Amino acid sequence: MLEKLLKLPLHKLMNLAIKERKKRWGNIITYTIERNINYTNICKAKCKFCYFWVNKKDKRAFILDFSELERKIKELISVGGVKILLQGGLHPDLDIKYFEEMFSFIKKKFPNIYIHALSPTEILHISKVSKLSLKETIIRLKQAGLQSVPGGGAEILVDRIRNYLSPNKISAKDWLYVMQTLHELGIPSTATMVIGFEDFENNQILDTWEDRFEHLRKIKELQNKTGGFTRFILWTYQPQKITFAEYLKMLAIARLYLDNINSIQASIVTQGVQGAQTALLFGANDMGSPIIEENVVSSAGIKFKVSKEDIIRAIRELGCIPQMRI
Ligand code: SF4
Repeated sequence: MLEKLLKLPLHKLMNLAIKERKKRWGNIITYTIERNINYTNICKAKCKFCYFWVNKKDKRAFILDFSELERKIKELISVGGVKILLQGGLHPDLDIKYFEEMFSFIKKKFPNIYIHALSPTEILHISKVSKLSLKETIIRLKQAGLQSVPGGGAEILVDRIRNYLSPNKISAKDWLYVMQTLHELGIPSTATMVIGFEDFENNQILDTWEDRFEHLRKIKELQNKTGGFTRFILWTYQPQKITFAEYLKMLAIARLYLDNINSIQASIVTQGVQGAQTALLFGANDMGSPIIEENVVSSAGIKFKVSKEDIIRAIRELGCIPQMRI
């Protein structure tokens, strides 16, 4: 099916994907208001493509202070926010107690704030630092307040690519295993995919269509087992190496192939509000969130300032109805 879809001209893919989106969502386009908060930029994985990580001794190194966390959440609430996306580097010393304290602190101060946090890579790392089993780690994080997990760190779930870009990071098999365990323990997650990675030595794109298809097949297979993915999000690497048309093509193919995932999110962070608006014509039904803070992406030199009003206007311009979600 994937190879057949790839052969279709872009306008045909657009027609099929928009039909599929309308069948599932009618005229509704969803969005949320969340704040991306990084708890540390110290990371021992040192991925080749990442502009965010620093060593412990670097003068830019930080571990987020809880009073700063409180300030950020208060700001989020003041603009109508409901959710935080908490992520960070693989800090060599932060064990489960730090995360339990942080989540409990948030839930005590802000019981209505939804905690979407910690990618599979971070969760596996926390279990190792804490010398706990993966299950025990997840159960304790859930008890402390973790509600769902972002699909970060999936990049492309093909080890040839992962070994080149981030050899110290989780393997494709382990990423899927952590996700499966989360879903089985009642923690839903998103699934992500990043395309357009750079082969730095040869100055060309690293990921092939076959790699991308392998990624989609693995996501679909796990979803058939667990049903735990709530949304699929497609990103492009910064600085962008692929054309916008290729992004749209990939998005439409994902919408048509992932028939067991109801929601497909456009990426305002990498495509801007106009790009995300166009993505709605290629199968996406969700605009994500206004951008309040995005340290990882802005460190690579890209900054979009997008407000809730920008998102609502973009949805209405297409004759659709905006609907806020968690
Ligand atoms: S992408 Fe994540 S795991 Fe890799 S170096 Fe950056 S912060 Fe660390």
